[in-house]
Amino acid sequence: MNSAKILVVEDEEPIRQMLLIVLNNADFDVQCAKDVREARDLIAESMPDLILLDWMLPDMSGIDWCRQLKNDPSLNELPVILLTARGAEEDKVRGLEVGADDYMTKPFSPREMVARIKAVLRRAGKSFTKTKVVVGHLILDMERYQLSYQGRDVPLSPTEFKLMRFFMTHPGKVYNREQLLDNVWGRTAYIEERTVDVHIRRLRKVLSEHGCGDLVKTVRGFGYRFSL
Ligand code: CA
Repeated sequence: MNSAKILVVEDEEPIRQMLLIVLNNADFDVQCAKDVREARDLIAESMPDLILLDWMLPDMSGIDWCRQLKNDPSLNELPVILLTARGAEEDKVRGLEVGADDYMTKPFSPREMVARIKAVLRRAGKSFTKTKVVVGHLILDMERYQLSYQGRDVPLSPTEFKLMRFFMTHPGKVYNREQLLDNVWGRTAYIEERTVDVHIRRLRKVLSEHGCGDLVKTVRGFGYRFSL
């Protein structure tokens, strides 16, 4: 659940799908964009740990966007691996000159791709099990097993903590009761769906006592969404 989040920016559907499968199998949390515009929107929503960036994209070349990222003080520590069909040494040099953290030529082996990603994440000092998840003024500290809001600890039961961990690592998306059961309690748990509502209600009560009760929203007829 707290694996590194990889943003794949690739316009070619088959390669995007292949990367999605390979990275999911390697337990990464994957998001895909088909151009730079989509990638920017996704980053604004939640920051990835690494970008796999194709060189040839429809709206802006990967190399130009990489240069922009590396010149942006708020984004320049975000690791970027450039992907390209080109194999020329001078392209590789250009890629690394604009600040890409690594460079891979298509076609690449899935195993090598995963190994390179792990190496870049390690160099960037990103560990796979994040010890803290930060969303707005909320901080979920995995080591202390503690949630805090605006610096104040919010006492949660183990189930509420797991719910919050799931919500905070998946902000903005709607989940129905069954999906929450699968993700938070596990597929094998024998729990009725309405139990989810009970736990959500308790969680909201604790959150609202700390001034942030509106973070978990009900999406009528479907389920729940966590957003600021
Ligand atoms: Ca492309």
